[in-house]
Amino acid sequence: MTEIPDDHPRAESLRTRHRIEAGVEKGITSKQGLIAQGRGEAYDYLLGEETIPSAERAERAAAARLLLADHAVLSVNGNVAALVPGEMVELADAVGADLEVNLFNRTEERMAAIADHLRDHGATDVKGLAADARIPGLDHERAKVDEDGIHDADVVLVPLEDGDRAEALSEMGKTEIVVDLNPMSRSARVAAIPIIDNIVRAVPNVTEHARELKDASREELEAIVSEFDREAALEEAERAIRQGDLD
Ligand code: ATP
Ligand code: MG
Repeated sequence: MTEIPDDHPRAESLRTRHRIEAGVEKGITSKQGLIAQGRGEAYDYLLGEETIPSAERAERAAAARLLLADHAVLSVNGNVAALVPGEMVELADAVGADLEVNLFNRTEERMAAIADHLRDHGATDVKGLAADARIPGLDHERAKVDEDGIHDADVVLVPLEDGDRAEALSEMGKTEIVVDLNPMSRSARVAAIPIIDNIVRAVPNVTEHARELKDASREELEAIVSEFDREAALEEAERAIRQGDLD
């Protein structure tokens, strides 16, 4: 990989792109993952490649909701594994959640490569390989989840999830936290808490909020969650994209 100078105006975006490329080379990320990244980059560019205030609020609400969960699961796909493996492990530790590998195009090789990659980044228990339960309403491969993982969870964080599975999970009654740069995508629209931000900024931010809220009471956490307005957050993100300037 060529060195990207720090003063390059789009240095962070280029580094992120290289991490996805490396993920494909390592067998972690699928080729479709490259296309998903391209779509994400376009939205991020329009958002100014920064965490907008409504996303910051969503990240705080997500941290509170994860801390309130009986059983939270963080879903990891090939793009998430390439971009934020260590950050996902840290978030799981901060909120007491499980990590589960979940792929759009499931292959046993890629499942194993991602699980290994997460373990290399400090994960002790990685779910998703048992695949002993199903999400109703999805075709066979797409429906596979772990009985003691996503199937059992009350709260799931699904970054970059496709619309069908996001809808199916919400029909199962799960509280969904979605990270997606497109506020118009179905995934964002079905989420209880849509985080319209780049995963590389969103995950560390949620962790930071979770650490700050570690000693908060249930009442305080519940208040943060109920004050969060998902419709307003989606609208603000869409407005930011259309106007190209937030201030
Ligand atoms: P559906 O319409 O069913 O929701 P889709 O067409 O959106 O599916 P994909 O192309 O797989 O399906 O979607 C990828 C989504 O992930 C896009 O909305 C894109 O904006 C988002 N995305 C890609 N990279 C990132 C990233 N780094 N951080 C956050 N979101 C991202
Ligand atoms: Mg989508």
